[in-house]
Amino acid sequence: MGHVAARRLALLGRVVRNQYPCRPHSTVGLGWKPRVNYAAHTQQLRAITGTHAPNWKQSRSFSDDSTGAENGEDAQLGTYSEADHEHAVISTFDLFSIGIGPSSSHTVGPMRAGNIFVADLKEAGLLHKVHKIRIAIYGSLALTGEGHMTPSALLLGLESADVESVDTSYVPSRFAQIKKEKKLYLGHGLADGKGKEIDFDYERDFKWEWGRKLPLHSNGMRFTVFDSEGILLATNDLFSVGGGFVVNGALSKASNSPPAGQTTGVGQPESKELQIENTGGPADLAENMFYKEIRRADAAGDRRTGSEIKPLESSGESAALVDAQSTRPPVGSGAVDSIPNTTETGAQTPRYPFRDGESLLALCNKYNLTIAQLVYENEKSHGYTDEEIHEKLFRIWDVMDQSILEGVQAPLDSTLPGSLKLHRRAPGLYKRLTRGLYPSSQNLTAPDAQRQLSSGDQSSASATTGLQPAEAAKSATMALSRKSLHGKRGPPRVHGSVYHPIMPSPPRRTALPAMDYLTVYAIAVNETNAAGGRIVTAPTNGAAGIIPSVLKYTVEFISDDPDRDILTFLLTAAAIGMLYKRGATISAAEGGCMAEVGVACSMAAGAFAACMGASPETIEQAAEIGIEHNLGLTCDPIGGLVQAPCIERNALGAVKAISSANLALSSIAGTQKVSLDDAIRAMRLTAQGMRNEFKETSLSGLATSVPLNIPVSVPDC
Ligand code: SF4
Repeated sequence: MGHVAARRLALLGRVVRNQYPCRPHSTVGLGWKPRVNYAAHTQQLRAITGTHAPNWKQSRSFSDDSTGAENGEDAQLGTYSEADHEHAVISTFDLFSIGIGPSSSHTVGPMRAGNIFVADLKEAGLLHKVHKIRIAIYGSLALTGEGHMTPSALLLGLESADVESVDTSYVPSRFAQIKKEKKLYLGHGLADGKGKEIDFDYERDFKWEWGRKLPLHSNGMRFTVFDSEGILLATNDLFSVGGGFVVNGALSKASNSPPAGQTTGVGQPESKELQIENTGGPADLAENMFYKEIRRADAAGDRRTGSEIKPLESSGESAALVDAQSTRPPVGSGAVDSIPNTTETGAQTPRYPFRDGESLLALCNKYNLTIAQLVYENEKSHGYTDEEIHEKLFRIWDVMDQSILEGVQAPLDSTLPGSLKLHRRAPGLYKRLTRGLYPSSQNLTAPDAQRQLSSGDQSSASATTGLQPAEAAKSATMALSRKSLHGKRGPPRVHGSVYHPIMPSPPRRTALPAMDYLTVYAIAVNETNAAGGRIVTAPTNGAAGIIPSVLKYTVEFISDDPDRDILTFLLTAAAIGMLYKRGATISAAEGGCMAEVGVACSMAAGAFAACMGASPETIEQAAEIGIEHNLGLTCDPIGGLVQAPCIERNALGAVKAISSANLALSSIAGTQKVSLDDAIRAMRLTAQGMRNEFKETSLSGLATSVPLNIPVSVPDC
């Protein structure tokens, strides 16, 4: 056996071993415990690291660039400064959440918003009184139209479909049924089965506010419900702010005798909308920013402020509606400062709170923990048991892996939804990549092939032929080579004159296995996402391909202990993502594509380095390189679809992540001139300086230079 053949068979063995393993994991019954004690965090952090608050000011606002800017750097930072007492720790399971494509803002967030509104109605004892609902979507959510699947996600959310588990094929079929039958079953999926079916005319009750924006954020939704006499029962504004996170205002609840002017039926609240739009948003929209819980009680004690339910006509609500712009505390400041401590809320403190890369490294060194171990311990202090952490992490990996599988098994000639009519490339790339390695990829349908590979059917195949698995694979490969690889190929077509002093180069194809596998895995995930399939927001849907791609590559080709490396990879990536979420942004609306693909690349680079046994300092360096060369990356998808350049961009992000890690691994730790904190700070400033046209507006860049005559719409992922 030649060297190359031996290498290929060895590779085949590793691939077959790890390819799409079946791992049963339950996601049921994983409770959430309250968390966070800010004062204690800060004291602990300072005691541990000896660091002091940086001089940049606390303030986080989504309303406009002027809010909170008071001096020098702050004026430039705009939305990116943070409370100096805040740590960066959020749960890994808030950062990585399971959702459906194509957009964490346009599908995952709205479905979660629908869940939240119905859960609030139920807690307020209003759900059974609801007779009519009116829904309005604003700004970016409206402009992207049904192509981003926002209405279907939102309505299914109101029916309490779970974004993590809903059958992705059920969503469009149920949406069609709602439209046809004009019935909506609010809270249909609630655990106690006490939902309420109401009349719902999609054309009348679902409003597209194309040209209007609620004050806080471009992705605004307003829900309003009425009783059988047309009396306004309650209303709430929710905002999908990226990564599947939803900012939730208080549910504004009418009393038994709503004031005149607010109770005249379905059409009446229009004047209130105008009032809100002109004057600001509810005062407590800061809450629900850093968690993804549906029931508020489950998230009590987290970065949250404001009441849960307010009387609609009370002076407090009135002030919130009328004077919000002047009274609303910036998210992340003011009211957050006064969050009750854990004694009052029962919240628990992360065991190792860190606020930036420096304090993260200090904690790792002080307690002799890897970054993954430190995050793991923090998850335990969030209330998860060891078993729950393992189950949830492997469940995340399983969904990532399935999204790759779904992408490579799609029909070869299929196209993605949307006006671009983009062809899926993952199936063809995968088929070509595995040609010669996988006999099944040539003579079986893809699902059959996968089943065979993952269930060990090679042994049964070898039983019938009498050959050992390796010999059988080799034999099949050779037979296939004879049958299909060479037989159909015509002579290579050479472009250019052969009579010129510089002869044209003959067509060739390189085989760079690492790059090829990374590419196909990332493309597969993003095509699954673009088709509305199930993916993990990592940390967003549009950038969802990078981390699964690098992790899959690690598991298949690098790892000697996949279980350990899956945990290490995801927990390390989560720590890095937390630093960005606190120190900069993971939203394209605020930082363009560097906030999504750039951040995912950085997370994957650090996580890959961790699986290679790197020290925390080297991991930090890998993450820094990963973002440094994505600074300034614009968000300009064509036609507002999360497809081009997004899908390819994920492939390049995955390759860049491995390169970044390898660069760091071959450097001397601690000698780099740019720290991760420096790079995050640079990212924040870069985001601030980017023109809005390059931040998920589709108003410039590729979106306008490609003459497709597609109406401009606003993308988001
Ligand atoms: S270009 Fe925009 S829509 Fe596409 S992946 Fe990047 S941030 Fe997401």
